Amino acid sequence: MSDSRSIDTEILIIGGGLSGLSLADHLTRAGQDWRLVEARPRLGGRIAGLDHGDKTFDLGPAWFWPEQPRIAALAKRFGINVFEQHTDGETCYENADGSVYRVKAFSAMAGSLRLSGGMPALVNALASALDRAQIRLNAPVEALALMQQGVEAVLEGGETIRARKVVLALPPRIAAGIVFDPPLPEAAMRALTTIPTWMGAMAKCVAVYERPFWRDAGFSGDAMSRHGPMIEIHDASAMDGAPGALFGFLGVPALHRLTLADELGEACIAQFGRLFGEKAHAPLALHLADWAAEPFTATEADHLPLGEHPAYGPPPALSDLWGGALSVAVTETAPEHGGFTEGALSAAEAMAQTLIP
Ligand SMILES: Cc1cc2nc3c(=O)[nH]c(=O)nc-3n(C[C@H](O)[C@H](O)[C@H](O)COP(=O)(O)OP(=O)(O)OC[C@H]3O[C@@H](n4cnc5c(N)ncnc54)[C@H](O)[C@@H]3O)c2cc1C
Repeated sequence: MSDSRSIDTEILIIGGGLSGLSLADHLTRAGQDWRLVEARPRLGGRIAGLDHGDKTFDLGPAWFWPEQPRIAALAKRFGINVFEQHTDGETCYENADGSVYRVKAFSAMAGSLRLSGGMPALVNALASALDRAQIRLNAPVEALALMQQGVEAVLEGGETIRARKVVLALPPRIAAGIVFDPPLPEAAMRALTTIPTWMGAMAKCVAVYERPFWRDAGFSGDAMSRHGPMIEIHDASAMDGAPGALFGFLGVPALHRLTLADELGEACIAQFGRLFGEKAHAPLALHLADWAAEPFTATEADHLPLGEHPAYGPPPALSDLWGGALSVAVTETAPEHGGFTEGALSAAEAMAQTLIP
């Protein structure tokens, strides 16, 4: 292919999660030319929701914290209500043998904040502020080639897009699966493949009920279990408590989970019942979101749970790639709050500062 074809856009953003959308928003507001390609048929990446009636329950992130100003500022800009995680009441503990006891304990989630409509409300608001004609869904980038004039991205199916600069707004290990021509330096590939995807090993089960009946019985909705399949459970009700909802993080390892999907849903309902009583056996809706099974979020290397929150940050090996034509801006490379949704906004903000003259 000749290198004389003109560029299609100044900046091509690969990935329509919170980082990519926020970067597109910064560029739009600065009057910059951009396009965004997203592999999935939807925007949001790790932010996703279970819709029930006119309410949405988080299948990915749910919380942010008072020391995270960017999420709060975006919520304010778009008029999205913020409310505190419900933690009033007793915590349930489940022993390895399935026996349950309740204790008035301090909740680790006390003071954490949620958005009315869940995190998808933020994605929808950001997306509605962008020109949708500049966004392509169902468009996984498979290869990137450095040209004289910039970078050419090859989408699944062979279509190409040429940009002066490309920003990888996707988990580093997923980015490592793109074919780079010329190949990236060894240190850059090592950085991409070794940065773990935050929550990439995680699965979340959400159960929706007409109302948060457990609160009537003095339960907060918090539970810790050594029996499983869920190890940590919290109230996930809508802001006004209607409908009510509970969610739990699965403790079953990713590889084992992938063979058990149907049985796991039943086992989660049974566990909600052991913890919160008979009414928990009849949810209006139940959804198990297994992020380890999502090829645009997690790789096999992400299937092992992380013991602790990694020390994320912008890796020096990922700066100035292809003479500055290729950059990475995702929560895992954020200067602040790496791994969190606030980190996605921090990564986008830092990238915007380098791209906007
Ligand atoms: C279960 C779970 C619970 C969480 N809980 C919290 C929480 O309570 N609070 C918190 O702050 N954070 C939490 N997180 C983390 C939070 O979800 C992330 O920090 C944030 O969503 C990352 O956004 P991102 O845009 O940086 O990356 P992503 O959301 O991963 O976006 C990357 C995008 O790139 C796309 N993509 C991938 N490959 C390609 C390709 N080849 N071509 C084009 N597009 C591609 C993906 O489809 C995706 O849309 C949680 C995550 C999970 C999974």
